[in-house]
Amino acid sequence: MNTKKITREQHNYRSELTITALLLSGVGLLYTDIPFHIMVQTFIQRLGDATVSVKQFLVSIFIEPFVQLEFSDIVGILMIVISLGLMIVQIRKRMISSSYESHSCPLCDSKLHRVHRSRWQLWLSKALYLSSGYFHCDTCDHSSLRFYQKTPHLHRG
Ligand SMILES: [Zn+2]
Repeated sequence: MNTKKITREQHNYRSELTITALLLSGVGLLYTDIPFHIMVQTFIQRLGDATVSVKQFLVSIFIEPFVQLEFSDIVGILMIVISLGLMIVQIRKRMISSSYESHSCPLCDSKLHRVHRSRWQLWLSKALYLSSGYFHCDTCDHSSLRFYQKTPHLHRG
């Protein structure tokens, strides 16, 4: 009975303490000059500034170079693109001409057998717009990928 009373009193004491603490801190906040509204305002402003600077940064990287392009730059880029295209055409020609040999192994000169192409070989021949064949030599285990001009089936008469 006695202990119960004590705990009850302790409980009351605690709640009173929290209430007074809240009251004191509330009064303290009223009297101190912590500018909460200004802090929130500056935080929002900083956030806005940050997003603006991020936008400007992105614009300066991705858009401004293209807007500020001079005519000579455009011509230069065009020339680079054309030269790259010609280079690809040249590589394509080389690949065809180098694979114009007969179906014999370049190492041991025995007959080559056509085997299945892997996926990247198929993609490569599609990218170059060429027919390709993958050949394997049973004698020396040599294998090679060869490219051919796409045969115009329709114009054969
Ligand atoms: Zn061979």
